Order: sequence, then C-alpha cells, then structure tokens
Amino acid sequence: MLVADYDIVFQEVPDETTLALNISDCPHHCPGCHSSYLWQPVGDTLTHDWLETVIRRYPYLTCVSIQGGDRDYHEVERVAGWIKQHGLKSCWYTGFKKIPDDLRLQYFDFIKVGPYIEALGGLRSKTTNQRFYRVEHIEAGYDMRFDLHDMTDVFWKK
Ligand code: SF4
Repeated sequence: MLVADYDIVFQEVPDETTLALNISDCPHHCPGCHSSYLWQPVGDTLTHDWLETVIRRYPYLTCVSIQGGDRDYHEVERVAGWIKQHGLKSCWYTGFKKIPDDLRLQYFDFIKVGPYIEALGGLRSKTTNQRFYRVEHIEAGYDMRFDLHDMTDVFWKK
C-alpha cells in the first residue's frame, strides 16, 4: 500500500484530531473525483516503521484515518491494527459501495463507505450516497460484537 501524502485534519472524523493517510492507486475512478492524483500508484510504502515515525511527530493525535487502500482491504485491516497498537482510534474511508462482508470490524472505530457521486454530493450533502459509521465494540459474554452506528447526519449540522 502506498501513501501519496498525509494531512492533519479536524472534520473528516467528528471530534477527533486525525492523521489522514492518502493512499494512492485508487481503483474506483469516480467522475468528479476531488483527488484524481490518487489514481496512480505513487508515494511511499506504508510500513509500521513509517507510520510510527509520523505518529511520533504529532503527539496530539487522537485518530488515524486510512483514506483508500481498496485494492487490498486485508492490508487496510493490518494498518488499522497498527494504529490501535498506538492507542489511537482508527478510521477507514473506502470508495466501495458497501463494507466488505468479511472485513474484520474489530480493527476499526469509524468507517466511511461509498464512492463519490457528483450529483449526490459528498458527506456534507444531505443527498449523499456515502455513509459514515461509528463501529460499536460490544461485549457479548466471552465474545465481542460489532455494530455499525450511522452518524452521517453529524456532517450535515456543521
Ligand atoms: S474513491 Fe475517492 S479517491 Fe477514489 S476515485 Fe472516488 S473520490 Fe477519488
């Protein structure tokens, strides 16, 4: 997985100070894409060492968001696991139409799902096709259960 660049952002994940990792080689090629520079495979390989170095640079972070990585979502799970090892919340922005059935939700705190459809708008548009979920981690006896709580409307109030 290649990271083209990254930003510190405050609105992509509500109430979190987030390191947003912009992953290149996006397979979706949505018409009207705001980040078409991410269609090509460009940037640095995302390793645990690379991530650790960047996280240490910004001690005030509360969350890391993986923006893309849809060519291999099991790799996205692995990176989300590293993020949680650092005591941070993890988010995945994916352009898939739906969350893959076999995605291991235990690695995530937030997931945004849906391709960009120009006529419907992004997350801040009330007509958007995209959904932003908080992943609720619920103890169920000796097991854990993971429920998705749709909080997309938070983006419409800002
Ligand atoms: S998923 Fe995102 S980065 Fe990829 S083409 Fe669509 S809008 Fe662009």
